[in-house]
Amino acid sequence: MQAYDVVVIGGGHNGLTCAAYLGMAGLKVKVLERRAMVGGAAVTEEFCPGFRNSVAAYTVSLLNPKIIADLRLFDHGLKIVERRAQNFLPGLDGRYLLAAEGCTAGNIAKFSRGDAERYDAFSRELDASADVLRELILRAPPNLTRGANLAAFGEMLKAGRFGNRLRRLSTENLCTLLDLLTKSAADYLGAWFEGELVKAWLGFDAIVGNYASPYTPGTAYGLLHHAFGEVNGKKRLWGHAIGGMGAITQAMARSAAGYGVEIETDAPVREVLIEKGRAGGVVLEDGRVVRGGAVAANVNPKLLYTAMIPQSALEPAFLRRMQGWRCASGTFRMNVALSELPSFAALPGRDCGDHHTAGIILAPSLDYMDRAYCDARTIGWSREPIIEMVIPSTLDDTLAPAGAHVASLFCQHVSPQLPERRSWSDHREEVADLMIETVDRYAPGFKASVVGRQALSPLDLEQVFGLTGGDIFHGALTLDQLFWARPALGYADYRGPLKGLYHCGSGAHPGGGVTGAPGHNAARAIIADRRRRFGFHANRWR
Ligand SMILES: Cc1cc2nc3c(=O)[nH]c(=O)nc-3n(C[C@H](O)[C@H](O)[C@H](O)COP(=O)(O)OP(=O)(O)OC[C@H]3O[C@@H](n4cnc5c(N)ncnc54)[C@H](O)[C@@H]3O)c2cc1C
Repeated sequence: MQAYDVVVIGGGHNGLTCAAYLGMAGLKVKVLERRAMVGGAAVTEEFCPGFRNSVAAYTVSLLNPKIIADLRLFDHGLKIVERRAQNFLPGLDGRYLLAAEGCTAGNIAKFSRGDAERYDAFSRELDASADVLRELILRAPPNLTRGANLAAFGEMLKAGRFGNRLRRLSTENLCTLLDLLTKSAADYLGAWFEGELVKAWLGFDAIVGNYASPYTPGTAYGLLHHAFGEVNGKKRLWGHAIGGMGAITQAMARSAAGYGVEIETDAPVREVLIEKGRAGGVVLEDGRVVRGGAVAANVNPKLLYTAMIPQSALEPAFLRRMQGWRCASGTFRMNVALSELPSFAALPGRDCGDHHTAGIILAPSLDYMDRAYCDARTIGWSREPIIEMVIPSTLDDTLAPAGAHVASLFCQHVSPQLPERRSWSDHREEVADLMIETVDRYAPGFKASVVGRQALSPLDLEQVFGLTGGDIFHGALTLDQLFWARPALGYADYRGPLKGLYHCGSGAHPGGGVTGAPGHNAARAIIADRRRRFGFHANRWR
């Protein structure tokens, strides 16, 4: 007898999405989350008295509209609003770039008329590739299969459909797709633009959460990965969830609970129970056993296969792949409580302007980003870090006391592991000071306005949120770890190497970000397998 049809390890947004769809299909589901709250990296917390913020992930775009609709997230309290301007890049020379609906090209023209003229064509080119990715988000990639059986035939058909989709692209767009998958962001953007600030604006997406220089081959993919989203139907926009990112996961948890899903917090899983080569449940840290017909893992695949499953149960080649799974973002995250809005030297004023609602990128060039990476590689953090600051309280008055504000500082690059075996616990506050001082250079007086702060080093991201290596995506988004190779060739269809074991987190296609897609796709695989095994009819969700 199984206590549950499916046990989900981890109540991140993907675990919750998976659970909700399984519950919707009539399955009995249990979610086990190690923290005291669900949401994983998409949570809202009071980080200092009176000030709440999205303490890890902080901005929304990639969350799939089908999932929002299927889980009725808006009915469960989610509200997403647009920023009044998308991005603001103040330079240290007194100039700035503001990207906002209708005036981006005009603002680019302040730096380069040629860049401004090329911007629309660039956007169309990126959109064409983003549309391809968008169509693939809610599908399992074609999976590598051996032999000549029904499964192999199915995968061949899938690969054929994928090939056909690519054939619909013009040769030019196909070349772009290849460029975006293989080139460096600097090469890709350099072919379009000459202005340093414009390239820095667009190049930020290539290095965010990606411990690499924008000159590293493959980093152009970051541009594409951050382009498949939308806010309230408007493609490629980024917005804010009222109440913070926790509003998304709380709505997901309510949706799942509405379908009978049981969610238990403070319930860390120690290992997957393997019986006769099949995942049959889990063992918790406290020794309790929770049995299930299937296990869906929302955790990083490296954690799953190197810490939660006996090595003897895995093929050596697969185990080696997981041991070598590259997961380490060069990310340092801060939440700050502010007594007033910052006034930027390049655009002074503390009254809330459109630029205050934007993603404020402090990194004036790709060369600056390259130096940040080289510094982090050699000394552990960059002397001049790249920072995106978002001040969500400019769009949401539920986060800070009246008149005060909260800001997210998303800082790159820091080394996930410090040189000479130094510990992040000894250097966290020193680096946090550097981040505040960096903002202060662009917005004099910022430092004095900070009335509280929380700093999260890569080690903290691992210890607090369970993110192996502090990797915000559960694994680097590089060609060797994407699509049919995520997490490994032959296992891209959300099914693990053991029967009854599934991947429902960001370590599966399409990778990291608050998308809900791996959770959605894994649920579909689980339901299909149950139908095959038990003739179960998932008639309430397709
Ligand atoms: C600092 C930071 C900033 C980011 N910014 C953005 C952003 O602005 N926008 C965006 O779209 N994305 C952003 N991301 C990326 C995005 O948040 C993640 O890729 C995404 O949330 C991962 O979701 P997930 O459900 O797959 O995994 P997770 O959110 O990591 O959830 C996994 C869950 O498993 C739990 N768990 C771990 N071990 C165990 C165990 N042994 N037993 C039980 N449970 C366990 C964890 O506690 C966690 O709740 C950011 C991430 C970080 C860290």
